[in-house]
Amino acid sequence: MDNLRDKFRRFMVGRYGMDELNRFLAALTLIFVIVHLFVRSPVFFWLELASIILVYMRMFSRNTGKRFHENQKYLHFAFYAREYVGNLRFKLKEKGRYKIFKCPDCGQKIRIPRGHGKIEIHCRSCGHNFMGKS
Ligand SMILES: [Zn+2]
Repeated sequence: MDNLRDKFRRFMVGRYGMDELNRFLAALTLIFVIVHLFVRSPVFFWLELASIILVYMRMFSRNTGKRFHENQKYLHFAFYAREYVGNLRFKLKEKGRYKIFKCPDCGQKIRIPRGHGKIEIHCRSCGHNFMGKS
């Protein structure tokens, strides 16, 4: 067992190994496998194969500079994706709590908290008052 581990260690010298992008690709492979259980389409077989080959190719690659660069790009992309999803969730939460009215006079958008019934809304932009159901 130790012998095998030693051999593997020697094999991995100068090779790239795991990184965040590979972990993401491995997770993606797992998702493809799970979806494949429910959707019996050959497309998922090829997706599984492609992503797992990509993981191993990157892991055993000797071009560590290029792999590092790929990972940086992925991290950059993942950061913005997370920001975007976070923003979207925030907006959805806001939408649940507030109702947006449009002033009939000037078209200014006004945000009113929900759940106060029929109320008079005051437009701060033009001073117009109108009724609305919050
Ligand atoms: Zn107005």
